[in-house]
Amino acid sequence: MTSRPLSRITIVGGGSAGWMTALYLNRYYNSGATRTKITLIESEDIGTIGVGEATVHSIRFFFAAMGLDEAELMRETGATFKTGIRFRNWKKPVAGQTHEYFHPFEEQRLPAMVDLTTAWFSSDRAQSERYDQGTCLSSHLMAEGHGPKGPSSGPYQGVVPYGYHLDAVRLGRYLRRKAVEAGVEHRVGTVDRVETQGERILALHCNGQRHEADLYIDCSGFRSLLMSQLKQDNWQSFEDALPCNRAVALQLPYPKGASPRPYTQATALDNGWVWEIDLQERRGNGYVYDGNRLSPEQAEAALRAHLGVPADMGQALHLKMKIGCLKEFWVGNCLAIGLSGGFIEPLESTGLHLINLSVRLLATHLNGAEVAQPVKDSYNRLMNGIYDDLKRFIILHYCLSDRDDSPFWRQAADSAKHSPRLQQDLALWQHKVCEFMDLAGSYATVFTDENYRFVLYGMGHTPTFAPIGDPAQHQALFDQLAARVQMALQQTLPHHQALAALK
Ligand SMILES: Cc1cc2nc3c(=O)[nH]c(=O)nc-3n(C[C@H](O)[C@H](O)[C@H](O)COP(=O)(O)OP(=O)(O)OC[C@H]3O[C@@H](n4cnc5c(N)ncnc54)[C@H](O)[C@@H]3O)c2cc1C
Repeated sequence: MTSRPLSRITIVGGGSAGWMTALYLNRYYNSGATRTKITLIESEDIGTIGVGEATVHSIRFFFAAMGLDEAELMRETGATFKTGIRFRNWKKPVAGQTHEYFHPFEEQRLPAMVDLTTAWFSSDRAQSERYDQGTCLSSHLMAEGHGPKGPSSGPYQGVVPYGYHLDAVRLGRYLRRKAVEAGVEHRVGTVDRVETQGERILALHCNGQRHEADLYIDCSGFRSLLMSQLKQDNWQSFEDALPCNRAVALQLPYPKGASPRPYTQATALDNGWVWEIDLQERRGNGYVYDGNRLSPEQAEAALRAHLGVPADMGQALHLKMKIGCLKEFWVGNCLAIGLSGGFIEPLESTGLHLINLSVRLLATHLNGAEVAQPVKDSYNRLMNGIYDDLKRFIILHYCLSDRDDSPFWRQAADSAKHSPRLQQDLALWQHKVCEFMDLAGSYATVFTDENYRFVLYGMGHTPTFAPIGDPAQHQALFDQLAARVQMALQQTLPHHQALAALK
């Protein structure tokens, strides 16, 4: 049975969400004989969010699928490589040392009867090294300032998995150019009226013209311009669990002698945490904080004090964040993608990842101009699952802290109560290693058991069990890993050389 073909899709918003969606759908629908007209309407008067500079590793597959040249993408967006996140100060100092751990995108699976993590705990290696140091390559590359790639790595391939740090504004412009070259129609104008009938959009009004489409995609950012007019009471806030709802961002030149680091740094402060994201020509910094505890002025002062920069250096950008997501992402003939659909604070840099997921899922669900309700229900259920899953993973970073030096951190320690599934898993993981099947039935998209382990054990939530296996076999595993580390160091370039090779 065939349904009426989709002839026209209109996207409102020209931020990363709008252009990623346009690029993907254009490639998906217009590579063959069928033609679906894809139009993107973007306001000149309303800016994009202008932040969102770190990614997870899966974004490489999106860029590759879009046929983008990696070196060109990186040159045009001032991008650097990211092999993970270095977390600092998320627990009390130990013996006067700032608490620290690394969350890479990688896990080593070595063939052995007893897995590497169990061998690591059974060998009591926690006495002499951190979990990430003992179980992956990226941690050592990071320590030596190496990027993920070597001279012989192909596009989008590395010795270890990697994401990027990129300039959000330049990324928007680059994606726009690519999408327009590929045939997406670009209209500049502010949508000033949304004509609706029940839960359907009949037309958009922009520049005095009436604009009709089969499907409308709301990429208008936190405004949620289209969705807000279709359904009331459609928002679920996560701010009880994740109270950081404001940010202040500050772009700065590199301190003398510094060069871009191939990892994001996330340092906890009294009321949230600070990101440091290194691009080719500058460093992006920002304090993500609980706006109920700190004013924007206090937050900016705390950020400047932390970075050691005076009040008159750089122009700070203050942002409000809506933490949560829609209950229904697809209502009638309209969907929300990007910030208009939801946002979970940027701790694990998942904004672009969620856009990638949303648009891929849309493409596999969208089967014609008239979409049956079970299809929309499926999309909504999956998107809710994905957000809920991510919320759980972000809570994990906070709830394991033993910091009690501010009301913010005392509340954070209690935040697992907002995720019964996490509470149950944390109880389990006191007694056994976290494994793939423990997360069965969840919607893990990019963060799976390996990511949970790096955060759990980095934050000291380690299992207690009697040592298992043969110590000599465990040692053989660690020797094998040490050899891989040496090989990875030889195969990869120092980060600054890897960046120079792009030019
Ligand atoms: C503090 C902070 C840090 C972040 N860090 C990261 C990160 O490290 N990694 C990551 O992946 N993500 C991050 N994000 C999320 C990321 O910035 C967004 O997911 C991404 O930029 C997509 O934004 P968007 O396109 O949905 O919205 P926006 O960038 O806000 O774009 C909205 C668009 O809608 C248009 N528009 C609005 N109203 C109208 C109208 N009436 N008519 C026509 N056009 C209209 C605007 O002109 C604009 O083009 C962060 C977000 C915040 C707030």
